[in-house]
Amino acid sequence: MPDLKVSKISNGTVIDHIPPGRGLDVIKILRMERGFDNTLSLLMNVESSRLEKKDIVKAEDKELTKEEVDSVSVIAPSATINIIEDYGVVEKKRLRLPDKVEGVVDCPNPHCVTNTGEPVEALFEVVNQNPVELKCSYCERKFKALELEI
Ligand SMILES: [Zn+2]
Repeated sequence: MPDLKVSKISNGTVIDHIPPGRGLDVIKILRMERGFDNTLSLLMNVESSRLEKKDIVKAEDKELTKEEVDSVSVIAPSATINIIEDYGVVEKKRLRLPDKVEGVVDCPNPHCVTNTGEPVEALFEVVNQNPVELKCSYCERKFKALELEI
C-alpha cells in the first residue's frame, strides 16, 4: 500500500520520522525558512507506528546535498529521507551521523574561538550517536544535540 502521507508531493524530498517538535529545526538547519521558493510543508505530531508521534517535512523540487543530509542527522538521526519523483518514492535513505560535523551548528560556548568573529567554522566531533552528543573541536566542550541552538 502506498504511503499517501509521504507521496503527496510530485517531486522533491520528504523527511519522515523526525522526532516530534524537531521539524522546524530541520527546516532551519536546511536554511529553508527563508529563500526557499517552492512548496514547503511541515506536519507536526503526526501519529506514527514507529515513534509515538513524528514530524514530517516535505519540500517540493528539493534535493538534499550530502552536507544537508548530514546536518539533518545531527538533530534528527532517526529520520528517513524519501526522494519523490512523479508522486512516488523512488529512494529511501536512512541517515547516518558522520564522525565530524562542520559548519552546521554553532558552538553554544560564547567564549569559543568560533564565536569571536574569527574566520573559523564550527567543527564538532561526534562522541555519542544516541543520544547525539558532540564535542567542539576548538573549545573541547561537549553538548547534547538537543541543547544546540539551531
Ligand atoms: Zn566551541
